Amino acid sequence: MNKDRLLHEGKAKKVFLTENSDLVIQEFKDDATAFNNKKKGSILNKGVVNNAVSCKLFTYLQEQGIPTHFVEKLSDRDMLCKHLDIIKVEVVVRNVAAGSLVRRYGFREGTLLDTPIVELYLKDDELDDPLMNESHAVALGLANHEELETLKSLATRINSLLRDFFASRKLRLVDFKLEFGRHKGGILLGDEISPDTCRFWDLDTGEKMDKDRFRFDLGGVEDAYAEVQHRVLNEN
Ligand code: UDP
Repeated sequence: MNKDRLLHEGKAKKVFLTENSDLVIQEFKDDATAFNNKKKGSILNKGVVNNAVSCKLFTYLQEQGIPTHFVEKLSDRDMLCKHLDIIKVEVVVRNVAAGSLVRRYGFREGTLLDTPIVELYLKDDELDDPLMNESHAVALGLANHEELETLKSLATRINSLLRDFFASRKLRLVDFKLEFGRHKGGILLGDEISPDTCRFWDLDTGEKMDKDRFRFDLGGVEDAYAEVQHRVLNEN
């Protein structure tokens, strides 16, 4: 499968069309951004880690019955995927209070949430990805109510599966963001699942092992990404 033409270049990935109109290649870059592009940098080897971690997690989720866009890992940085019509809704699931939940609602960081919180954000960098509810998403024509129900129920199932997966690797899954798309009449999980899009805290020490190390200049960014890759790929 060859990269025929660049379809889209995002902050962390390039997406290429292939000779098969049903398939695209996601190429993972080392470029890192935070705070909607206000902070820019690069994390050595991040693309390789995020591709490896995402491929493993999509494979696991697929085995557990979650429909995803993942087809196969082509190389260190390239993932072959089904070509989705991306739904411009970012679904965030939270198990522990952190990030914008703390800033927006005053939760104390680290508070365990009895029931996971599911949030919808408008995927629009120019508008700073605002938090929205279902009525906004429907009014904007992004998805219908039935599709949004599917997104939320898939996100909740994915959360249960991933929480167990990471707990067995001594990582607490604090929160994460998912994107979905339409493909041949169905809805598939798309994008990536990686230390860029999740918060992971070490189960024993509470140490942050994700993009927060880059966002807040905590140091040890590359080491944290490499450690997450190691724990995800090697079963205990
Ligand atoms: N997230 C993401 N992309 C975004 C916004 C959030 O991958 O555009 C992830 C983020 O890494 C975290 C979760 O979604 O794991 C919740 O992010 P939050 O709303 O707390 O925003 P932040 O504090 O990162 O601005």
